[in-house]
Amino acid sequence: MTSKTLPDCSKLFIGGKWVDPAEGQFYTNENPARREPLGQVAIATGPDVEEAVRLAREAIDGNTAWTQMSPASRGRLLWRIGELIREHAEELAWLEALDTGKPYSEALHGDIPHAAAAFEYYAGWCNKLAGSVPPVSPRYLDYTRLEPVGVVGAIIPWNFPLQMAATKLAPALAAGNAVILKPAEQTPLTAMALARFFEEVELPAGVLSVLTGFGETGAALVAHPGVDKITFTGSTAVGKLIMRGAADTLKRVSLELGGKSPNVVFPDADLKRAVRGVTTGVFYNQGEMCTAGARVLVHESIYEAFLEAFTTAVADLRPGDPLDPNTRLGALVNEEQFQRVQEYVRIGREEGAELVLGGEAPAGPGYFFPPTIFTGVRPEQRIAQEEIFGPVVAVMRFSFDEEALRIANGVSYGLAAGVWTRDLSRALRFAHGLRAGTVWVNTYNALWNEAPFGGYKQSGIGREGGREGIEQYTETKNICIAL
Ligand code: ADP
Repeated sequence: MTSKTLPDCSKLFIGGKWVDPAEGQFYTNENPARREPLGQVAIATGPDVEEAVRLAREAIDGNTAWTQMSPASRGRLLWRIGELIREHAEELAWLEALDTGKPYSEALHGDIPHAAAAFEYYAGWCNKLAGSVPPVSPRYLDYTRLEPVGVVGAIIPWNFPLQMAATKLAPALAAGNAVILKPAEQTPLTAMALARFFEEVELPAGVLSVLTGFGETGAALVAHPGVDKITFTGSTAVGKLIMRGAADTLKRVSLELGGKSPNVVFPDADLKRAVRGVTTGVFYNQGEMCTAGARVLVHESIYEAFLEAFTTAVADLRPGDPLDPNTRLGALVNEEQFQRVQEYVRIGREEGAELVLGGEAPAGPGYFFPPTIFTGVRPEQRIAQEEIFGPVVAVMRFSFDEEALRIANGVSYGLAAGVWTRDLSRALRFAHGLRAGTVWVNTYNALWNEAPFGGYKQSGIGREGGREGIEQYTETKNICIAL
């Protein structure tokens, strides 16, 4: 086992150096399971953003160590980051559990290998990101280059901190960009650990900076004319602010936002499997997932049987110490989330939905909340329309396929959806009819670095993963030569 120490978050990583925040501001980071301080974190303000952008531009504009590095060498560097993540997996999982409240074992087997795999996958793209040679007139040679977009501001949330950082840094760096990473204020630890790895592999100075701080730090990146693109994962509300903010400088934006994903269970589903998938689909990571299958639509003919099996399975999930390897449900990330979940439980009750499980926080200092099931929910109710981002599920009943599809599509989001059926035609009809970026059939939350992921409607703009995931960090240049 590797040694476990908390990274020093009191300095910012700017231009390859660890520096004090320019205005000397700090905040205290908290362990949500114990409500104990985890240390002081630097707040990056205007002058720090200015310096990070200046050094990023220096690293990317003209003939520099980074722009002159061969794509194969860039690939080796990124691959090495993947290796370092795997070598430090236990330490990183421990940091993630401390910082977010998520179960250590889920971080160890989920977040951490996924983050490593993102670097490994995009390492391979570095020397394969080829342009094309469009067949124009015989008197001309025309070809395209996929050039880096330039300086990328990456703003990430707190639910999968290292995984989110990797999902953005790996393709952005593989495409040859410089990146300024702004971790979520709730969860700075693994971003700092990651910066150390980049220091170890001797990434040219300025290619990566990590600026901790609050929304203002992110907003300063969005406003800065020296930043060419913002890639953001977080709430739909902040995504809208970012899109507005980016308009002034016409920055490119990629937005991975909220969801209210449906999980549709048909009478011909493998019930045992569906119950398992629907349970982890909404309660994994305490339900703090943009893909959470927070609306469960069940056909009337199996409604009672499903509900009984589902309630039994969910009752087994009790929140516990995130660091205990047997814990499957940890703590919510902070007071704000804790309050928000409780507020939605109150709203659900007020709207007349039936609370059949959970709903009440246990006594104790941590932000623990049990899995909560509402039944008899009507599609127009707030708990069926709004993202809760916690362990609360709304179960609904349907009679006809078309009705299920209409309910499934009847929200402002369109991130993901699940369909449980043994009927191939029905599965495909739904997969094609759902207005969502990802449709899972007889599985849920199967996410791959190799495959595109992103939202329809108010769930976002752009895709991460696969070819689409790296192309969003490029500009296409067309070159035309008269022969
Ligand atoms: P959540 O609701 O999951 O906490 P947010 O959307 O509030 O997510 O935050 C996600 C990330 O966006 C965090 O890193 C946060 O600091 C940052 N952020 C918050 N407000 C802004 C803003 N106005 N501009 C840019 N970034 C912001």
